[in-house]
Amino acid sequence: RGLAIGIDIGGTKVAAGLVDGDGRVLKEARRSTPGQDPREVEAVIVDLVRELSTDHHVWSVGIGAAGWMDLAGSTVLFSPHLAWRNEPLRENLERLLRRRVFLVNDADAAAWAEYRFGAGAGESRLVCVTLGTGIGGAMVVDGRLERGRHGVAGEFGHQIIMPGGHRCECGNRGCWEQYASGNALGREARELAAANSPVAQELLRAVGGDTDRVTGAVVTRLALEGDPASVELLDEVGQWLGLGLANLAAALDPGMFVIGGGLSDAGDLVLEPARRSFARNLTGRGFRPAARMELAALGPAAGMIGAADLSRIAARR
Ligand code: BGC
Ligand code: ZN
Repeated sequence: RGLAIGIDIGGTKVAAGLVDGDGRVLKEARRSTPGQDPREVEAVIVDLVRELSTDHHVWSVGIGAAGWMDLAGSTVLFSPHLAWRNEPLRENLERLLRRRVFLVNDADAAAWAEYRFGAGAGESRLVCVTLGTGIGGAMVVDGRLERGRHGVAGEFGHQIIMPGGHRCECGNRGCWEQYASGNALGREARELAAANSPVAQELLRAVGGDTDRVTGAVVTRLALEGDPASVELLDEVGQWLGLGLANLAAALDPGMFVIGGGLSDAGDLVLEPARRSFARNLTGRGFRPAARMELAALGPAAGMIGAADLSRIAARR
């Protein structure tokens, strides 16, 4: 009783978990993301639900994805990274699965999980950012996800912090996620490696000289091993992170920021420069209480846990 399935749809993999009412993942399964065709993604979801529900009664299914979901949790309006455009995904899936389905933005799902079961537990005004392909954002206020008038609040990654800057997949230039995400880290590192500078020696060695294979994850690994250039690259990304968080603090005044997503694996290597730049850029600094900044606690499972929990709540209504 009370079991739900949460599914986290990312650019490279689809991860699903059978989750109980206390946020524990009892069983997990994953597939690689099958290209961009929405029908194929649906087929993978059906397959995963079948696999996880063979021995259990499953109450509902929550889908978390890097998309802009409508307030009802029914339609994917748009995604900068996936192929959905006004896709009635919930209806399609409820027909295929014969179960209650609820759609939620991936960062909303992760934030909800961190609020209910992780680093943000008990915080009355929590802002969560996830650093991965892009920057996901979400806010939980007094125990409720703040989703805006139309369901698409919290798209912090697309705040323009550098007019005329790097092109973003959303179509604009200079979005925050072009400076402080895992993808941004990869792009900066590839540029450094392509410059063939002696400081990029370890980076080039790690990818056998093939600069295209330099990703944010590679840089994070090298930085944790002590490569000075990778530490510097993370420092730079961390500073952009802190700057954006200072802007968010000016607008939202949270008690706590929780930082999750793949890039948060770098721990203090990204958090420390972020704290410094946050402290330096926060408006009214020295004369106002400032938000704490902590790493997420649930790791990559946060998305599936939050999606499952939110689907359980939605199905009860
Ligand atoms: C998308 C968000 C998503 C985030 C993280 C952003 O580019 O606009 O909806 O949460 O990436 O995946
Ligand atoms: Zn953008």
